[in-house]
Amino acid sequence: MEKLAIGIDIGGTRTKLGLVDLINGKVLELIIAPTETKDSGKFLEIINSGIDKLKEVAQKHHSTIIGVGFGVTGFVFSNGMVDSTYGFLEFMEDYPLAEYIVKQNSLPCRADNDARVVALGEALYGKGKGQNRVLVLTLGTGLGLGFIAGGKFETDLPYAHMGGHISVGHTDFKCYCGKRGCLEALVSATGIVAGAKRLGWEQKYPDLPLNVETIFKAEQDGNDDAKIVVEEFLGYLKTGIDNYINIFAPDMIIIGGGVSKGMKLYLDKLTQLDFLLPYKNYKVKIALSELDEHSGILGSAALFN
Ligand SMILES: [Zn+2]
Repeated sequence: MEKLAIGIDIGGTRTKLGLVDLINGKVLELIIAPTETKDSGKFLEIINSGIDKLKEVAQKHHSTIIGVGFGVTGFVFSNGMVDSTYGFLEFMEDYPLAEYIVKQNSLPCRADNDARVVALGEALYGKGKGQNRVLVLTLGTGLGLGFIAGGKFETDLPYAHMGGHISVGHTDFKCYCGKRGCLEALVSATGIVAGAKRLGWEQKYPDLPLNVETIFKAEQDGNDDAKIVVEEFLGYLKTGIDNYINIFAPDMIIIGGGVSKGMKLYLDKLTQLDFLLPYKNYKVKIALSELDEHSGILGSAALFN
């Protein structure tokens, strides 16, 4: 018995549309299309054509689709209205996304913040399966935060998704949100690269491309500058995690996103808990995502779980 829904993950350059079986968290069919960032009409055309194709696949399975779920950057209201994506998708200002999709596809549509749906995917189908309180940190170009309790969002609206902007240090480095010392500005891919730049990476190592993968590799090869960058990164991330533990008391913290791919060797350094004396019996596990790129698709579809 299948229970099918479509999950749509709108990424920086690629939009992924997946036909998901909500019973077992399997992506039965995946369509990848370019992300249209400027024109609403073109955007809807691409999405609707993908939905049509996935409807055909569902028919072959002799199943019907129960709804279309979206993960979108920014604040999304419970009626599927996107207030703003902060310039990411230029046309998505006060944008009735769900209304357009329902009108053109005759399917129910739900939308939520992208970091929140990733967390839902991880909690239901990834490393968070079977855990009660699951905090998911998505470390990509930014830091997305999503928290799931008992398989559900703790609040209906995505109030906590800006939680990456907690201040963890007194740095001169200004975040795009206007504050200084934001965790997001220090531990995202953008932050790690900026840390290497401040040490003069481009002048010192013209042959080593300035990206997270190269920096992690150089650290493991004993490069002194890379060691400084990685140590700073882990220190800030650990401080952030310690703060999140105080707020959310998660049973499981999952780190996903592009940066997490190179973090296997560093996981031990994050799991040493130093600040938990007040909670005598509290335990938390920290793991890296294994769902990889699928977490956003699974979580968006799971808005119909
Ligand atoms: Zn900030």
